[in-house]
Amino acid sequence: MPPEEISWLRRGACRSSDPDLFFPLAPTPLQEARAKAVCATCQVLEECRSYALRAGESEGIWGGLTPDERRRTRFPEGWRRPAAS
Ligand code: SF4
Repeated sequence: MPPEEISWLRRGACRSSDPDLFFPLAPTPLQEARAKAVCATCQVLEECRSYALRAGESEGIWGGLTPDERRRTRFPEGWRRPAAS
């Protein structure tokens, strides 16, 4: 990814957090809640979320959303129409 596209990351609240909190090998509800609590204080949450949705980031917590939450945001239920017959 081009560095200028994620320059806002330097202002992220997670910068001083343990990376394992945002990219764990085995995610748990407690880890996700702790990471989201950091995101809730972040001044670049909207930029981060927008980037992650646009880029299709498939791993970790971005913009206060888990991978499943991002997937549901990008592809809400019913987004796929049945093929015409
Ligand atoms: S929204 Fe969360 S993951 Fe994104 S930069 Fe801020 S703290 Fe980090």
